Amino acid sequence: MQKKTVEIIGAGLSGLVAANRFAQLGWKVRIHERNKDLRMFGAGIWIWESGLKTLETVGAYDQAVANARVIREWQIRDPKDRVLMSRRATPDDRLMLPPRADLYQALIDRAMARKVEIITSSEAVDVSGDGTTVFADGSSRKADLVIVANGAHSRLREQILGTKWIDYGSEIGIRMLIDERPEDNKDTLIEYWNGNWRLLYNPCTDGRNYIFLSAPVNDARARRIPIDSDLWVEKFPGVRNLISRFQVDGRWDRLVNVKCRKWTEGKVAIVGDAAHAMPPNLGQAANTAFINVMALAEIMSKPEAMQDVAATLIKWESQQRSITDHVQWWSYLYGYVLGRCPPMLTGLRSGVLRAVSRTGWFDRNLNKGARYVPDGYVATDARNS
Ligand SMILES: Cc1cc2nc3c(=O)[nH]c(=O)nc-3n(C[C@H](O)[C@H](O)[C@H](O)COP(=O)(O)OP(=O)(O)OC[C@H]3O[C@@H](n4cnc5c(N)ncnc54)[C@H](O)[C@@H]3O)c2cc1C
Repeated sequence: MQKKTVEIIGAGLSGLVAANRFAQLGWKVRIHERNKDLRMFGAGIWIWESGLKTLETVGAYDQAVANARVIREWQIRDPKDRVLMSRRATPDDRLMLPPRADLYQALIDRAMARKVEIITSSEAVDVSGDGTTVFADGSSRKADLVIVANGAHSRLREQILGTKWIDYGSEIGIRMLIDERPEDNKDTLIEYWNGNWRLLYNPCTDGRNYIFLSAPVNDARARRIPIDSDLWVEKFPGVRNLISRFQVDGRWDRLVNVKCRKWTEGKVAIVGDAAHAMPPNLGQAANTAFINVMALAEIMSKPEAMQDVAATLIKWESQQRSITDHVQWWSYLYGYVLGRCPPMLTGLRSGVLRAVSRTGWFDRNLNKGARYVPDGYVATDARNS
């Protein structure tokens, strides 16, 4: 029997997880990346239980987390170093922080081992519902399924009229790795807030830790490259030992939210940041993409799926929307409460957050995406390896 074919546009994390899962389920997979090399921008990445289960299923877990720190707790602290929120991880509700480069390489290596065809310098310029993709060099290909995984600023999404809105938000962010020192904490993520400025410390690997900074978009001083360390010491004097190790280069990014009118058009499905980018408040955007991609592979691999691909994709979207909307909404709410609170209300905000974050309701909602069991999850002994 002929294999079913899928063309995937974009070799980011979402595209590569999709490539692996579809290949694993017997599809012939081709993935296109517009850049001439496969490279991953960024420092570390929070991978929660749902994401780790995905990596186990596609066989990338061991390599992806080989150098990762196992995180015990995520804390939010106010300028007086008081803990506003604490979220603990456990062996059944894990959080790990691999370097992005390790995660990316693990997914590439598994894809290559599965004979996924990875084509670089291949930019898709148009997709249509009949499964045709047109490329910048004028060539075109037709497949049983097209997966658009080309990031938050996807033009292909616009072409199939998927974009409902993009919120460019009020924050910018920058990521960097810093050298580790013996006194650095090794298992707790600490998110310091002062007004609308944030400094997030992430223990990452043996030797390097990951820092994320965010600031209001209109703060010209915060936006400087090289980073204005004096400003960050003024905001967070208690962690000047981290700030003294800041890298001088890097890039400030606008932290965007993307909402789609729809994720599908005929034989085309939109996934990952192209479908639901969200600011990195809960560290769940990529994890949510993994959940959705796993569900897509599962539903599309059912024998009856090919009888009506468009209807199957609509079903997939309706299944996955609620968990995605939930994570996106909580991420937005979090960003709003912590990042946009007027200065005169920060005392009140801290009190409310401290009280509410101890409730079961808050815990369940904040962590719904992180604890979600992806469709098609295959339990392995990865957590013991
Ligand atoms: C500061 C920051 C921290 C974050 N931290 C976390 C975290 O801790 N945990 C978490 O779960 N998420 C996190 N995220 C979100 C996470 O990084 C993204 O959700 C994830 O990387 C999105 O992957 P993607 O593959 O959907 O898109 P992208 O990573 O944007 O990949 C898209 C790929 O498509 C390629 N491409 C674009 N257009 C075309 C085209 N026309 N043809 C071919 N190729 C094309 C691009 O070159 C790129 O390689 C964070 C985001 C930010 C900004």
